[in-house]
Amino acid sequence: MENCIFCKIVRGEIPARKAYEDDRVLAFHDIHPQRPTHLLVIPKKHIDSLAQATPEDEAVLGRMLAVSQQLARDNGSPDGFRCIINTGRVGGQEVAHLHMHIVGGPDPVGPMLKKI
Ligand code: AMP
Ligand code: ZN
Repeated sequence: MENCIFCKIVRGEIPARKAYEDDRVLAFHDIHPQRPTHLLVIPKKHIDSLAQATPEDEAVLGRMLAVSQQLARDNGSPDGFRCIINTGRVGGQEVAHLHMHIVGGPDPVGPMLKKI
């Protein structure tokens, strides 16, 4: 994906504060953190969103979750954290490369959704 901003981060074409990397996933700090800990975990392979994931993506989706606990612990959120995957228009997804937010810090991140 030529112009995808997160693919560019994977290829090293734009900088990011990397927190973890392996053969399938990359984690880096969100550029506009909304909590003291705010990381993004992405598949290195481009997938538009969770709505486009296929059974072949099971391994990478599992990896994204599996690395979250250590990432949170190592980045200022030892007592728990929240994973968020915004998906598509309804989910409020802004960057069209599947990504999981890990948010946390010393204090509770707050209610899950604003009441409507
Ligand atoms: P979402 O609304 O779930 O699509 O979230 C996209 C997230 O990507 C936002 O929290 C942005 O702050 C973050 N973001 C956008 N561009 C970059 C970048 N170049 N490096 C790190 N985080 C980014
Ligand atoms: Zn991409």
